[in-house]
Amino acid sequence: MSLPVIAIVIPCYNEEQALPITADRLLAVIDNLVAENKISATSYLLCCNDGSRDNTWRIIESLHLKDNRIKGISLAHNRGHQNALLAGLMTAMNRCDAAISIDADLQDDPTAIYRMVDKYLNGAEIVYGVRSSRETDSWFKRTTARGFYKFQKRMGFETIYDHADYRLMSNRALQLLSEYGESNLFLRGIIPQIGLRTDIVKYDRHERVAGESKYPLAKMLSFSIDGITSFSSTPIRMIFLLGIILLILDVIMSIYVFISYFGHDVIPGWTSLMLSVWFLGSLILIGLGVVGEYIGKIFVEVKHRPRYAIRDYLID
Ligand code: UDP
Ligand code: MG
Repeated sequence: MSLPVIAIVIPCYNEEQALPITADRLLAVIDNLVAENKISATSYLLCCNDGSRDNTWRIIESLHLKDNRIKGISLAHNRGHQNALLAGLMTAMNRCDAAISIDADLQDDPTAIYRMVDKYLNGAEIVYGVRSSRETDSWFKRTTARGFYKFQKRMGFETIYDHADYRLMSNRALQLLSEYGESNLFLRGIIPQIGLRTDIVKYDRHERVAGESKYPLAKMLSFSIDGITSFSSTPIRMIFLLGIILLILDVIMSIYVFISYFGHDVIPGWTSLMLSVWFLGSLILIGLGVVGEYIGKIFVEVKHRPRYAIRDYLID
């Protein structure tokens, strides 16, 4: 049996400082795995330049000249981490047996790759890297991230807790991923839906090796909103629910209004005004909720997600 070819996919946006260090470290990991006879010597790094404004692409070109195992693609524009990563994974698809995605800043411990490869060799097709601690993250990043995972759960979709985009995927998992046609990408939500045999590897998260974060608060926030709206129509349901609650309150309110009307003097017009304000308010919200349900359906339909993924065949 031939040894598997591993592709390490690295999205890079303005990473001129980190990239040479990162490439060296990751090549050393590949070398060790090759020496242990676990992976093919043709395993490689694939750097995806995400429309960087600095020298990142020139650095990738010169690294490629020095060592052919460092390969690269360059996007014409800055399309964001998720798109750059997807471009890399789709380029690696059918050019490897398994692809490992890792950030260019080595915050995710590269030695976890050894354990990921072991799990892959033992039959797992998706191996998630999960942070065992978040001590090196700022208090703010830690709390917002934790809050976000909880919120996602509330909104009714599962992601892997404390897993970012550090993971191994077999070629088959990549092929299944390629069937997701949506342009609002939230890989962490999609990949658990693929549903092949999975496993987990824990690792410590470090500081960036060089350069600074490309994820300011605004980007993080819009990423989170994307994540929720791409996977959940719970917010729409909540409008509908609010309408129903308001309708119940409306009944209570009507009783109060009638008691006031018959009980003591009320200003003319108050009774009819109160009755209609509450009733119309609840009707409007229920109406919005109903329309929202259909929009939610349309949203799901236009994404053209695959409706099933076949894991095994026993047909011939
Ligand atoms: N990145 C990218 N495109 C972007 C922003 C970031 O490809 O528009 C890459 C970046 O080069 C890095 C990874 O995504 O490899 C994660 O970014 P970063 O480390 O800045 O995020 P943080 O770890 O601070 O959340
Ligand atoms: Mg980082």
